[in-house]
Amino acid sequence: MKAMVVRAPGGTDVLKIEQVPDPTPGPKDVVIKVDACGVCFHDIVTRNGTLKYGVQMPVILGHEISGTVVAVGRDVRGFKQDDRVATVQRYHICGACRYCRSGHEPLCPDRKFTGDWGLVGGYAEYVAIEDDNVALVPDGVDLQDASIVACAIGTILNAIREVGRLSPGESALVTGAGGGLGMHAVQLARLAGAYVIAQTTSPAKAAQIRALGAHEVIVHERGADFSAAVKKATGGNGVDVAIDNVGSQLFEPIRRSMGIGGRWIMIGQLTGQFVPFNPAQLFLKNVSMLSATSTTRRQLEDCLAIVARGAIKPIVERALPLERAAEAHALIEAGKAAGRIVLRPNG
Ligand SMILES: [Zn+2]
Ligand SMILES: [Zn+2]
Repeated sequence: MKAMVVRAPGGTDVLKIEQVPDPTPGPKDVVIKVDACGVCFHDIVTRNGTLKYGVQMPVILGHEISGTVVAVGRDVRGFKQDDRVATVQRYHICGACRYCRSGHEPLCPDRKFTGDWGLVGGYAEYVAIEDDNVALVPDGVDLQDASIVACAIGTILNAIREVGRLSPGESALVTGAGGGLGMHAVQLARLAGAYVIAQTTSPAKAAQIRALGAHEVIVHERGADFSAAVKKATGGNGVDVAIDNVGSQLFEPIRRSMGIGGRWIMIGQLTGQFVPFNPAQLFLKNVSMLSATSTTRRQLEDCLAIVARGAIKPIVERALPLERAAEAHALIEAGKAAGRIVLRPNG
């Protein structure tokens, strides 16, 4: 089959189309003909070498996968040929450890992140994913939309519902609101009943972010401290919950934006940069630093149901053929994509 392979970290020129063997199903594998694969910032930090944890090259990038089942392994229950499916961000979990057995399978020590470990990824015509990590796509949900549900919506559901416990009437700050995660965080925070404050450095995206449900959109110059605007929007209190998709670059303004007893949920880190901070500046306000990573299968199923009933719209800004993956990476690195870009390996 045709696949986009990265053999060593580097610029977008390390993305090369190769012919690799078709996947053959192991006992638990669901072999999927890929309809769409979302391009995540995670793919960029894997490709350029910033991310090293859990990476084994050569890799086929891509963990935001939807498609049609073409074959299943002998132990697979619940999926059959021609089923429409989407995947979480992993292709293997052990299924037996304390994390797998308690609904926290993204933390399984044996997990293999799709697109990071070996030649198993969605930038290819076919991919084999173990059944623990696959969900059926409901009727009425477009496969292209379904590809990004696990990562762009499920990660936010994990952050808001399980980790941050955002409640109706609370205020929520969404950083990087014009990005793939941010646009869905705005929608989900609004659905949760929060007063939603969105931060972006892209004036061109402000109207769209407002239309997705933000009550306030703060647009500012890159590097500027936006916390005064957050304070103003919250009557001087600061926010109850921050959903941070950006990381170190915004550390100080987010810290200043937190209200007393605020929950600061970290889910994104765009650079390898470290930040110094003084713990007293957090504990004197009882601010909690929290974090969430990727998505359980249950969260994916819940998000697909939310999308099926029209409560949240997956934002796919454009679809490109697999051969144009480098162009997708360049657009995302430059912050020029308003929502997710997806690749269509089978045309
Ligand atoms: Zn992703
Ligand atoms: Zn496990």
